[in-house]
Amino acid sequence: MGRIITGEGLDRTDIETPFRQVSFSSRQAETLASNTPVLRILPDVNVIKLGGQSIMDRGAAAVLPLVEEIAQAKKEHQILIGVGGGTRARHAYAIALDLDMPTSVLAKLGMNVPMQNARMLQLLLARHGGILIDHDAFGHLPLYYAMGCLPIIPGMPPFSYWEKPSAKGRIPTNRTDSGVYLTAEALGARSCILVKDERGLFTANPKTDRGARFIPKVHAQELLDLQLPDMVVEPVVLENMLRARLVKQVQIIDGTVPGNLTRALNGEHVGTLITAE
Ligand code: ADP
Ligand code: MG
Repeated sequence: MGRIITGEGLDRTDIETPFRQVSFSSRQAETLASNTPVLRILPDVNVIKLGGQSIMDRGAAAVLPLVEEIAQAKKEHQILIGVGGGTRARHAYAIALDLDMPTSVLAKLGMNVPMQNARMLQLLLARHGGILIDHDAFGHLPLYYAMGCLPIIPGMPPFSYWEKPSAKGRIPTNRTDSGVYLTAEALGARSCILVKDERGLFTANPKTDRGARFIPKVHAQELLDLQLPDMVVEPVVLENMLRARLVKQVQIIDGTVPGNLTRALNGEHVGTLITAE
């Protein structure tokens, strides 16, 4: 595998970089920049999202058993938890939309409720090593794991005012599923597990469509092509999976069923597997 920077036969002051004459927008640059493998920064970490509406909003009944399960699982696995926003976040979006706020502002506001949820989850997990970290603390993750900590982040990606315009409407495309998935991809994580309140992905929302059929495994492209009326995961996650270099699988499980998370962490096929291999 060719390396980009060779340093052969150079004067000390020369910078022999292939990008000196080729702009980053050229196709040649893409090839030059992509022909080396990508580093898995923390390949043992399992990135887990606890849903906002689907888990946190259910309060103690759903959250406390998961806290216990995570505390046990942490003895065997390195875990990073991301948390969603849920109904309070949707309410904030609705008011902001009514007040004519643009996508960028919605994306900024979208961080606040996941942060509230992350804070509460951190307190529940504190005696098991739970610590609340922000996105800038990624450089400290190895230290936290060495000390037996259980890092928790708000799932919202920190795009904030720099969220890209949405293809349709004004709701930010990248919300907490996306933030958690991108965290897993950035770290080169072992797994990305989205914990929700349904068995997994169905052909339609099982809460409103009694004819919805369960889909145990599906390719991300196939799923996009199906153009389902509603989805259990933000569609941008599927698009990003197709481009990703490291995390080519996402597992969606029902966190209201005790043991599901542990089984998923142990590599069992529970819920729905979305792949991009
Ligand atoms: P989160 O709590 O992580 O934000 P969401 O509420 O956004 O999770 O997504 C989970 C919900 O998606 C489920 O509770 C389910 O009612 C709904 N849903 C919509 N479409 C589907 C589908 N095709 N398959 C499964 N669940 C779906
Ligand atoms: Mg959601």
